Amino acid sequence: MKTKTLCAAAVTASLLCTGYSFAQSAHWGYEGEEGPAHWGSLNESFAMCAMGKLQSPVDISSAVSTTQSPLTFDYKAGGYEMINNGHALQVNYAPGSTLTVGDHQYELKQFHFHSPSENTINGKQFPLEAHFVHQDADGNYAVVAVMYDNGEPREGLASVWQTQLPKTYEKQSYENPIDANSLLPESLVSYQFTGSLTTPPCSENVQWIVLKEANYTNDEIIHAFGEVVHLPNNRPVQPLNNRTISQ
Ligand SMILES: [Zn+2]
Repeated sequence: MKTKTLCAAAVTASLLCTGYSFAQSAHWGYEGEEGPAHWGSLNESFAMCAMGKLQSPVDISSAVSTTQSPLTFDYKAGGYEMINNGHALQVNYAPGSTLTVGDHQYELKQFHFHSPSENTINGKQFPLEAHFVHQDADGNYAVVAVMYDNGEPREGLASVWQTQLPKTYEKQSYENPIDANSLLPESLVSYQFTGSLTTPPCSENVQWIVLKEANYTNDEIIHAFGEVVHLPNNRPVQPLNNRTISQ
């Protein structure tokens, strides 16, 4: 059995809901006056959304072949709950799963989904993109992005997308922890570049790792997502400016 907790009262700033905070410094969304074009002026702390020069997502169409730091994924089954934060479906992860980039170690904190994809590859937008959000001991972010194209989903995505998804500000615990390995494609060859969080406050110096090989999703999964989160929930692509994308 999954447990569900209604956290509607926690929408207002800084209230805790059974240990999980839905605190928001300002309302933002994906359309109209709260949409991406206005994020930078909704709140002082969101200024980077408008002023930043290293913003994400981007279109990946000019990758340069170069030597990259090797990636070492050491994921254990640790996805213990799915929350609907009003912007995305997010699976929170227990401590102990790491990604090492070269000799720099990050811990997997959570993963979440955008539909359609935020990053695009040679102009192609995918129906679904997962972001695996990692942080190092100093709070620096590394985000691994996995694209999902239309096709036959593997078992991993189906186990995350259980029959009843949490509604806005609700969460559900998993009986058996989700193994993030099951959501990765077979090949871990990647594009790498510097970017930002794709949601306010759009903080920069995020290490982005977009895996080249896509996994698969289908209409049923996207439809179920759209039933509980207002879609689309993608920020449009941002200027690359002076950045280099490595491959
Ligand atoms: Zn994201």
